[in-house]
Amino acid sequence: MAGTKYVYDFEEGGREMKFLLGGKGANLAEMTNMGLPVPPGFTVSTDACKAYLAAGGFPESLVEEIAEHVAGLEKKMGKNLGDSLDPLMVSVRSGAAFSMPGMMDTILNLGLNDVSVEGLAKQAENPRFAYDSYRRFIQMFGKVVMSVPAERFEHAIEAAKKAKGVEMDTDLDAGDMKALVETFKGIVRESAGRDFPTEPMEQLKLSVTAVFSSWNNRRAIDYRRLYKISDDLGTAVNICTMVYGNKGGNSGTGVSFTRDPATGANQAYGDYLFNAQGEDVVAGIRTPLHIDDLKEALPDCYAQLIGIMKTLENHYRDMCDIEFTVEQGTLYMLQTRVGKRTAGAALKIAVDMVAEGLISKDEAVSRIEPEQLDQLLHPQFDPKATYPVLTKGMNASPGAAVGKVVFDADDAEAAAARGEKVILVREETTPDDLHGMIAAKGILTSRGGKTSHAAVVARGMGKPCVCGADAVRISYSEKLFKVGDTVIKEGDLISIDGTTGRVVGGAVDLVEPSPTGDFGTVLGWADEARHMQVRANADTPGDARKAREFGAEGIGLCRTEHMFLGERRPIVERVILATSEAEEKEALAKLLDLQRSDFVEIFEVMDGLPVTIRLLDPPLHEFLPGLVDLAVEVAVMEAKGVPEAELKPRRSLLAQVNKMHEANPMLGLRGVRLGIMHPALFRMQVRAIMEAACLRKKAGGDPRVEIMIPLVAEVEELRQIRAESEAEIAAVLAERGIQVDYMIGTMIELPRAALTAGEIAEEAEFFSFGTNDLTQTTWGFSRDDVEAKFLPLYLDRRILKSNPFETLDQAGVGRLISLGVEAGRATRPDLKVGLCGEHGGDSDSVKFCHKVGLNYVSCSPYRVPLARLAAAQAVLGEGSSSK
Ligand code: PEP
Ligand code: MG
Repeated sequence: MAGTKYVYDFEEGGREMKFLLGGKGANLAEMTNMGLPVPPGFTVSTDACKAYLAAGGFPESLVEEIAEHVAGLEKKMGKNLGDSLDPLMVSVRSGAAFSMPGMMDTILNLGLNDVSVEGLAKQAENPRFAYDSYRRFIQMFGKVVMSVPAERFEHAIEAAKKAKGVEMDTDLDAGDMKALVETFKGIVRESAGRDFPTEPMEQLKLSVTAVFSSWNNRRAIDYRRLYKISDDLGTAVNICTMVYGNKGGNSGTGVSFTRDPATGANQAYGDYLFNAQGEDVVAGIRTPLHIDDLKEALPDCYAQLIGIMKTLENHYRDMCDIEFTVEQGTLYMLQTRVGKRTAGAALKIAVDMVAEGLISKDEAVSRIEPEQLDQLLHPQFDPKATYPVLTKGMNASPGAAVGKVVFDADDAEAAAARGEKVILVREETTPDDLHGMIAAKGILTSRGGKTSHAAVVARGMGKPCVCGADAVRISYSEKLFKVGDTVIKEGDLISIDGTTGRVVGGAVDLVEPSPTGDFGTVLGWADEARHMQVRANADTPGDARKAREFGAEGIGLCRTEHMFLGERRPIVERVILATSEAEEKEALAKLLDLQRSDFVEIFEVMDGLPVTIRLLDPPLHEFLPGLVDLAVEVAVMEAKGVPEAELKPRRSLLAQVNKMHEANPMLGLRGVRLGIMHPALFRMQVRAIMEAACLRKKAGGDPRVEIMIPLVAEVEELRQIRAESEAEIAAVLAERGIQVDYMIGTMIELPRAALTAGEIAEEAEFFSFGTNDLTQTTWGFSRDDVEAKFLPLYLDRRILKSNPFETLDQAGVGRLISLGVEAGRATRPDLKVGLCGEHGGDSDSVKFCHKVGLNYVSCSPYRVPLARLAAAQAVLGEGSSSK
């Protein structure tokens, strides 16, 4: 665009301009304007990069503009690029709005050529230094700008040393370096098909082009994908006067944090290398010294540096990290930004800074990344441990675990009973495996995504889970799995890290989480700020207890199917297979007793808080043996000539399983449909809930009952089930002679339910959005399959920006939620509305829930702290913290 300004001197920028100048450029400008010692320079804006990428070339005025700013810089410094007496040299660095490690490497010493190298030699009174700088420049420039293979330069250096019979680079003298410069130029000519550019302005133009292009290199794209950074931002380029940390003992370079990024302790934490340049510190070539060692060697510099760090903290009102160089006793600041830190450090720093009066409580709450809190709630691989990674799967449930491999839930249970730690390895899990999952320390599956059974259940239990590790090939019959050629047998130790998805052969040391007092302090502040309530998805008294510990204000989803498993399964089987009413009744009565006692305990743990109990949701055949297994069993029995009396019940079971078999069980006989088909089941559950509530009330408790009907698509379904439930409730209350309040509501988890929410609200006192199913049915994506199948490709090709099972798809599913809330409340203004899908534990989704006016979100107990924080941030992000 003609007339667009693309280049900004450091004096013209500021930290608020990070999208235009990149984070590095904006902060260099900020430091310049704070009067800190930043070497002069300028920034080519992200707008220039965007224009370049769109047009495939430099925007018209850009070269001229850069030339003007170079001229300005030369005037300021009293030196010229390429000068034969006292040349100016610059560095070129990329810098996007967000720190992106995948971008182009830094180029130092730009401006050197055959003429200016002599000038540098004279100025520094050190020809070796000058020629070493020049050869480094050609090497770097050749590699990153002209794509010359790096090893060609390395080989040339090795050859030079060999020829001279020395081992160290430092043993090469000025003459050797001069010769290397010529060799390097030859390598460039041969490899790039053109001469090394000696004209400084051309060097600069080529470097800027290379930075722009690096926006779209593979590493950068991958990084953006991982951290959900937009592809449209573009990068800026910072051109900065060179200062030299390699001019002898009173020179050096370092990096530092203003506080300890691991613990949050209020003391500078950094590394320093004497007589070194640029990347030497982070490259790990020499072991750096602690920043405090600077104190003795260069006390004035040290004092100045500590003072600057304090100034930066007061100015940014946050912990910063910095890069600096000392050139012959003079300190220069090369970079600063708000520093990355562990979750523990983030909390400590936030709490300390409130105490220091530097930030408000609301700011403290806003600064903590909700997702980071996970780090504090689960054991992790010891960060100091080293180990080879066997394979990677999806990081489905955070935390790490070590244990012996087992392939079967019963084996897991038996081993745990013997006191052994096990990892349950399955292709995927089903409700049948629940007891094994409870017994195991962690779960590894080779199929299924983040809302697969294994993932959801493991998260609910707060147990580490890696799922969809498709390189894992399991042979159940041989009791082993293979990853490539590696064979892991039953009983072998493995380690899994559900935070990163890593799977490791052997045992990795674990470190236990230590949530400090700061954790509670910050969450307390979050609670003061938030409007939405946070509940937990909990199916057992144990989960409920954990949920309360983490601050849940009730249960938003109690999935009763989990109460139908384990030793209770045969009773469920009897209900399903009953041939007479009497038989069914008897089996149901047994279940009633069991369910009642479950609910009594849950109501007790959650006394005074709402408990939403969902009536049975999954298809009944999930509680029966698998069709294939049973068919094989019956066939074998027949072949063996097993007596008819023994065979008959298995045959009739097979017939029943066959009858119930569905091609698409997720879209089949489940949820409310089950209640319509098998009214006795739902009636029993409603009775169990109300009898439990009566018992609790009688014992002086305060049960808050919410009965929830799943998978409603049409109001009439709900109307009928509600009428039947209310009749049963009335009967229970009359029998017990007690009054207990209750609510009946529904899940909204089908598009039709959202679209007809106005009618559904006539029969529902509350809605809870089941966004797992709502995502599945809105997209037509099978939640058990797509994450391990084509979703990764969709993400890779940017068809999707994020996994809709993880982060709520606001445009589609979110729109249905908004419509549903609005229509529901139009019918019933006091309608209570919540969300209980996996999205209730995802911070962006929680923020969306606040925006559309939900009363609460409900998530796994371990994600409750995250949701509390995100709900507060949703309010603070609106610029108001009033309740
Ligand atoms: C949902 O569909 O979002 C939900 C919470 O129910 P489930 O995951 O049990 O289907
Ligand atoms: Mg559901």
